[in-house]
Amino acid sequence: MKNFTIISYCLTIMIGITMTSLPLYSQESNCIETPIAQNQRIAKILQIAQLGNPVLREQARPVDNLTSPNIKELIADLKTTVFDANGLGLAAPQVYQSYRIFIIACHPTPRYPNAPTVPPTIVINPEILSASEEKLKDWEGCLSIPGIRALVPRHKTITVKYTTEDGKTVQCEYTDILARIFQHELDHLNGLVFLDRLDNLREIVTEKEYQRMIQNVGKK
Ligand SMILES: [Zn+2]
Repeated sequence: MKNFTIISYCLTIMIGITMTSLPLYSQESNCIETPIAQNQRIAKILQIAQLGNPVLREQARPVDNLTSPNIKELIADLKTTVFDANGLGLAAPQVYQSYRIFIIACHPTPRYPNAPTVPPTIVINPEILSASEEKLKDWEGCLSIPGIRALVPRHKTITVKYTTEDGKTVQCEYTDILARIFQHELDHLNGLVFLDRLDNLREIVTEKEYQRMIQNVGKK
């Protein structure tokens, strides 16, 4: 199995891959109804669209007004929802809102024990400026496609640009799992899911078989 060394040159990090995860966010998850500063609105756990829903196949629209109450609510709800689902990331179209926004919530998992724990990061209007020719294959899952995992090829390293929730423009480089999460989430904004990226349909497994695999790896 590949031994992942996570290297990130980003000062700030950000990600809806649902690879098996530890209950790292359990405390936060208990705070489902967290009052949001200023307006005291209660963030909501949103329903997650499942594969087959047309919203997952749409081209999401750019965000042009970060101060709009709807966008602020969406950002707060994405944070609450990704923690509740224990995901590594979540994109707005997955909660039926077709905007170019996603959240990265990377943390160690049994499959990626060395994955960095990064503060949940909201990514708005993202672009990939350049990508390494080298691609790596690794397992991905998705909150919108429960029960299925597959080996997905992704660029090993990407240089990206996006807007933060504070309206700042960030340019940085991601490698390995963070690059994978970013590419997975960005695909959601373009109407793609990880199954569209496979080069071999035989590299799809059920969650049960995936769990069996990672447990066997751990015993070696
Ligand atoms: Zn996904």
